[in-house]
Amino acid sequence: MLQVLESRALVGMELSDLRNLLGPEQPAYRARQLYDALYRKQVADLSEISNLPQVLRNQLVESCPMGLPAAERRFDSQDGTRRYLLGLEDGRTVEAVLMPEEGRDTICISSQVGCPVDCKFCLTALMGLERNLTAGEIVGQVLYIGRENGLRPTDSRMNVVMMGMGEPLLNLDNVLKATRLLSDENGIGMSVKRITVSTSGIIPKIQELGQAEIRPKLAISLNASNEQQRRELMPITKKYHLSDLIEACRAYPLRAWEKLTFEYVLLKDVNDSDEDARRVVRLLALLNCKVNLIALNPGPGIPFETPSAERVHAFQAIVRKAVPCFVRKPRGRDIFAACGQLKRVDTDLVGIA
Ligand code: SAH
Ligand code: SF4
Repeated sequence: MLQVLESRALVGMELSDLRNLLGPEQPAYRARQLYDALYRKQVADLSEISNLPQVLRNQLVESCPMGLPAAERRFDSQDGTRRYLLGLEDGRTVEAVLMPEEGRDTICISSQVGCPVDCKFCLTALMGLERNLTAGEIVGQVLYIGRENGLRPTDSRMNVVMMGMGEPLLNLDNVLKATRLLSDENGIGMSVKRITVSTSGIIPKIQELGQAEIRPKLAISLNASNEQQRRELMPITKKYHLSDLIEACRAYPLRAWEKLTFEYVLLKDVNDSDEDARRVVRLLALLNCKVNLIALNPGPGIPFETPSAERVHAFQAIVRKAVPCFVRKPRGRDIFAACGQLKRVDTDLVGIA
């Protein structure tokens, strides 16, 4: 008899969950065989697991969905970026993006359906929060896109960033479980050095993340150069002040190989002046970090404009004197796949896809 667990989807279960599922009648190695098939071999279907007894396979098929998402739509950009609208078990959809580049492939995945954090420049914010994703749904995005595109997670060119829809640190337990699954060398086998989680600055959760034994790299969406400006752009700052966020970053236990990443969305005439750049330098002065600048990706209902390339470079030149500072190339803007453009409703894509 299979044991009853809360969620019966197989993808998302750790070895201990699979042992519980199979129950004491099954020999211990059965759970390992199943784990190996799900995560190392990455089977798409239970019928592919030929080393399990037929009876057990049938029981599993009857009672446990695989839990892998499936693409409802795919949008291909001229620059090679692919945006996937992935269907979940409850009929909801979530977005994930593949960005192939010279020497590296990055999969940008979602952590929630929608997002409860009300950043004023982000399309996902307009959806509000529908629900958290399960660990399996987070991992499933990587497995699905990997398989569709012939990518191997063990390959060092592959990177995963949790920068799609949602605030990952408001779903930290599932994000950490997904990270354990993605990085287990007996399973999917990605190095945690190639997994990054990005947060709008949920301070207590940053502290909790720092205590986790197996954790991804941390990126912080800074997006403003002072308290007042950040409150206006990211109202969550009223709860988690910028000064406290910087303090939490200072206290964050970086591993020997690790740096913090700060993301900064540049909004024309709002947070993109030379004075802003100098304030960013002062804020980050004592941190072991780098900065990624992102010129705003515009969208319907977003009341900001994109600064000129010259402004972006002038900003970069000031920050770069103090901290490594890069400009993130917009990817897949033509298919609404770029940062902050992810939004489930795709009616606004008519004529673009
Ligand atoms: N919720 C997390 C991760 C998802 S957002 C976070 O906010 O960090 C991923 C990144 O996209 C963040 O750095 C965010 O600041 C940025 N972003 C949001 N809207 C954007 C837009 N319209 N243009 C460019 N970047 C945007
Ligand atoms: Fe949520 Fe991040 Fe968008 Fe802010 S920028 S609304 S935290 S997804």
